[in-house]
Amino acid sequence: MTTQSGNRYALVTGASRGIGRAVALKLASQGFSVIINYVSNSEAAQKTLDDILAQGGQAELLRFDVGDAQATAEALAQWRTQHEGEYISVVVNNAGVRKDNLMLWMTQQEWAKVLATSLDGFYNVTQPLLKDMLVKKWGRVVNVASLSGVKGMPGQVNYSAAKGGLIAATKALAQEVAKKRVTVNAVAPGFIKSDMTADLNEAELKKLVPAGRFGEAEEVAELVAFLVSDAAAYITGEVISINGGIYT
Ligand code: NAP
Repeated sequence: MTTQSGNRYALVTGASRGIGRAVALKLASQGFSVIINYVSNSEAAQKTLDDILAQGGQAELLRFDVGDAQATAEALAQWRTQHEGEYISVVVNNAGVRKDNLMLWMTQQEWAKVLATSLDGFYNVTQPLLKDMLVKKWGRVVNVASLSGVKGMPGQVNYSAAKGGLIAATKALAQEVAKKRVTVNAVAPGFIKSDMTADLNEAELKKLVPAGRFGEAEEVAELVAFLVSDAAAYITGEVISINGGIYT
């Protein structure tokens, strides 16, 4: 893969586990120096780091809560002072949480936490990184949305709203920055095996999937890696479903 020369830094939020971890490993294998963000699970984040180093890649940890605007700004500012002259050219907004409940019983906390992580997190992380991408005239933003944000899922009004908002933000931002060779896309996974889906009844739910199975985090990582590559330079403002054939 060819992009601009020098160290190419890719920030993956929520890279300690699941899809983010798989994306971090994949981007590292493609030569990116990966910034592994996480919020609480230091052990899992360290494991992602160790695995990248073991495969000969470059990575570092950067802990912050993407839903906390101040903490995010401080962490990114600190990274910048520690990496003078460098910039983060790729951001994968992957951090997310589920707090499912029927709207009738949904608490304000359940609503706010999910919106803060997926939607505020997108703003908090992307906004400070955008300027460098525009000035350097090369950047990639990939937002991990969801099937839920495309079609809406009962029991997930909060999550559908967060992911639907993320999809609309993707389309809007893509148009703002396209001239500067910065692309902004979303991926919309269906059911992917991870801690987030560990409580679901896989045997029942896989019957809804034409492919007859849940997806693997590594399959999502392949798609993200393509969108980040130079080969995908003319794809922007898109939402690419990766769900085993569920019609959206
Ligand atoms: P996961 O296994 O539960 O992992 C979630 C990751 O996000 C962890 O690394 C976690 O860090 C991090 N995280 C959570 N809140 C954070 C915060 N406030 N700040 C920073 N990091 C935070 O989830 P996953 O299944 O890989 O999901 C990844 C993304 O894909 C999410 O956005 C999710 O909505 C989306 N998605 C997943 C599926 C699926 O079927 N799995 C389907 C569609 C979309 P810690 O380890 O520190 O807690």
